[in-house]
Amino acid sequence: MHELGIVIEVVKQVEQFASEHNVKTIDTLVLEIGELSSVIPRYIEEVYPMAVEKSMLKNTKLKIEITPGLGKCDDCGFGYNIAQNNRTCPKCGSHDWTIISGKEFNIKEIYTA
Ligand SMILES: [Zn+2]
Repeated sequence: MHELGIVIEVVKQVEQFASEHNVKTIDTLVLEIGELSSVIPRYIEEVYPMAVEKSMLKNTKLKIEITPGLGKCDDCGFGYNIAQNNRTCPKCGSHDWTIISGKEFNIKEIYTA
């Protein structure tokens, strides 16, 4: 499970942001995670309390927004949700596609108190 390392890295970035902007308290941290990203939102939520325990984010709420894994079929050009269609084009059955969205992992928003 690589999620703990990822969250620790996120916490570092947020703390750096906070010190640069003279922010004392962060109310909510919003992460954007793509459906096709290698990061599993459920694991992020599980390791989050451990990762923030000794940081300034100790009391910060975590919110995760999922970006749908959308792709475009390389053969027929049909746009569809890759994750929900078993990575197969529902129109022509092709397994070749180009990702449009869904691989992102970003700090989307930071709400300060
Ligand atoms: Zn197709």
